[in-house]
Parts: sequence; C-alpha cells; structure tokens
Amino acid sequence: MNILVINCGSSSLKFQLIDAATEKLIAKGLCERIGIDGSQISYTPAGGQKETTVTPMKDHTDAIRLVLEALTGEKTGVVKDLKEIGAVGHRIVHGGERFAASTVITDEVIEAITECNDLAPLHNPANLIGIDACRKLMPGTPMVAVFDTAFHQTMPKEAYLYGIPYEYYEKYKIRRYGFHGTSHSYVSHRAAEILQKDYKELKLIVCHLGNGASVSAVKNGKCVDTSMGLTPLEGLIMGTRSGDIDPAIIEFLCNKENKSVSEILNELNKKSGVLGLSGGFSSDFRDLEDAYEKGEEFAIRTMDAFAYRVAKYVGAYVAAMNGVDAVCFTAGLGENSGFIRKKICAYLGYLGVSLDPELNARRGEDLVITTKDSRTKVLMIPTNEELAIARETFALVK
Ligand code: AMP
Repeated sequence: MNILVINCGSSSLKFQLIDAATEKLIAKGLCERIGIDGSQISYTPAGGQKETTVTPMKDHTDAIRLVLEALTGEKTGVVKDLKEIGAVGHRIVHGGERFAASTVITDEVIEAITECNDLAPLHNPANLIGIDACRKLMPGTPMVAVFDTAFHQTMPKEAYLYGIPYEYYEKYKIRRYGFHGTSHSYVSHRAAEILQKDYKELKLIVCHLGNGASVSAVKNGKCVDTSMGLTPLEGLIMGTRSGDIDPAIIEFLCNKENKSVSEILNELNKKSGVLGLSGGFSSDFRDLEDAYEKGEEFAIRTMDAFAYRVAKYVGAYVAAMNGVDAVCFTAGLGENSGFIRKKICAYLGYLGVSLDPELNARRGEDLVITTKDSRTKVLMIPTNEELAIARETFALVK
C-alpha cells in the first residue's frame, strides 16, 4: 500500500509518498508560500530530477490538489490514479493528554485535535487545514493522525509537572508534553536494533539536534523525560529558540525595552538560540562551525553554550534513569556534525565514553561511533519521521 505523508505548516506543506511494503520513497516535495504571492511547488520522483513550479495556491486545498496532480500526472506521475494511494498519514504537532498514540481520523478525532489548538496555536490549526483539504479531495481514503507529543505521554508525573500552582494543571493542562516524539521513537527503536538488544531493557538518551532540538530519556521502552515542554520553546538552545531561561527575564525585558509579552516571546522563538547568541550571525550550524574553526569569538561562545546545554541534559537524564546504555545523535546537526558530537561527548568521560575519531567523522548513516571498549555507546542515527508516520499509518489501516 502506498501511503501519502503530509506535514502541513501555516504556509507550507511537505509531502512524501512511501510504499509501505518496501518502505521505499516513491516521490517527495514541498509547497511553499501557500496563500502568499509567489507560491511554488517542488516535486521529486524517486531517482528523478527535482522540478520547481511557481504557481498560485490560494489555500491548502489548492496545494494538495497540485500535489495529487504531480503524483498522478502524465509526465511526472508515479501512480496511475488516486486509488493507488491507500492512506494518508498527517503529522499533528499537539495531541495534548488526549492522544498517547496515533489514531485513525474521524469527526470526533478532528474535534479532539481542535480542542488542543490552544496548546499549539500556530501549528495545530495548520495541521487541521491539511486534514480538511485531503478529506475534500480524497473522500473515502483512510487518514491517520500521528502526534509529535504522543511518544512522550508515558512520562511520569514528576517529570511532566511544573512547579506552579497545581490548579493550572487541572484547569488548563499546563504541563510538559514534549515534541519531536516521532523522531525520538524512531531513533530509540532503531538504536535497539543496531545494538541487538531488547528495546524494553535499554536505557537510552536521544539527542535530536536540528534547527529545533530536544533530548529525551527512554527507559525500558518508554519515554520518561524530555526537554521540550508545554511548547517547543523549552529545553536546549536551538537555531532561533532560546530554550530554558529564567521566566522573570520576560517581565524584565518588557520593562527595559518597552515591549509587550508577545513581542518578547516572538524574540525568544525567532531571534534567540544560536542566532541570537552569535549576535545575529546565523541560525545555521554549518555557518557557525565554519566561524568557530576560524576562531571567531561569537561562534566559540555560541557553540560552547549549545554543547554545554546538551551535555547538561544528558547528565540530568543519566540521573533520572540511574544510568544509560547508549546516547544517540540525530537530526540535521546530530546526524551530520562530528564537530558537535565530539564537543558534547567531551563532557561524557564519567560515562566511560570513548569516541572513535574515524567513525565520528562519518555522517548520515546508522553507526556506533564509540570504540569497542567504550563503557557507554554513542550512536548516530539519521531520523526518518516520514517513514515513521507511514509505518504508524499502515499499521492502523492495513
Ligand atoms: P533539521 O532541522 O533537522 O533539518 O536540521 C537543520 C540544521 O542542521 C541546520 O542548522 C543545519 O545547519 C544543520 N546541519 C545540516 N547539515 C549539517 C552539517 N553537515 N554540519 C553541521 N550542521 C548541519
């Protein structure tokens, strides 16, 4: 069965068509600037050339119509007609406490996702628009919602409660939820396969280091803690997000800079992280690595702070699990940058981590990168959230 995986943002839409039986990618692409002047679709059939077409898309229904035309078109098509698409898997950012697993989409499920909109006001409404558009254009095709938060729903209370009046949890469900769950789940399962150990008997720490970044602790097959919180703003220093800060900074800055809370929150989300720390130089870790190698002070302070924060979380999760068998690196930076892995692992001497420099210099492959005698293993595992969504979707509709 072919599964269409849809990841809908407010003005963008990423898609992949995956053959569930072989797990091979059939085609992928991206619609950008939906509802804005200059919208475009890029489309790449597996093994073929990427084609980008600038074409108006007034809304997500237009975008999905174009995606389906590309997939079935005479010249570009990879399937004969829409009947060859057996199901659609939708990435949904926030499932609140309601969704601890993926689920087949029904009217009730849509209502329950809508109830979570408050918790992810930028993301969930966009995800719902994607579902609505697909239902219009592919009536009768089963659809599945796969939540970024679901994997973390196994966290115990002591990990997900904040130290604020309990009534705020009761009234508004303010708590840690965590994100990137599909990636943390995929990478931790893959780690168990690579280590040839039972997933339910391992203590794993997964560092998902991309433009957004989070760490999770997975003990005996269950997530027991993760660094992102009610929203993706908490935790590590990220591309443009601040991660953990003293909440009192917000009022302090409002007063000093004569700005509103939402202006400061916008800065914490979009102008902070490594972009902010480097004095506005770049949110792209490649640029920062280059500048670091050249000895630029702004890059050194930024990358030092980034690596230190990751190492601090790893230490916290070793304590939370009373040990760790393996630390896994994934996502854009984690998969590709030997530089950052080395910098973080330099803090892990107490775990008996001994990196193999040659293995650590490789990138983008499933690999144990520590020496044979390393007491704790370190792995790099390219994440594949789309494949994970396709698997979940297939499991529910087959
Ligand atoms: P993601 O959000 O997972 O797509 O990751 C994006 C981030 O990964 C960007 O900041 C990139 O600079 C970073 N990245 C991708 N490739 C590399 C690389 N070869 N070395 C360092 N950083 C990389």
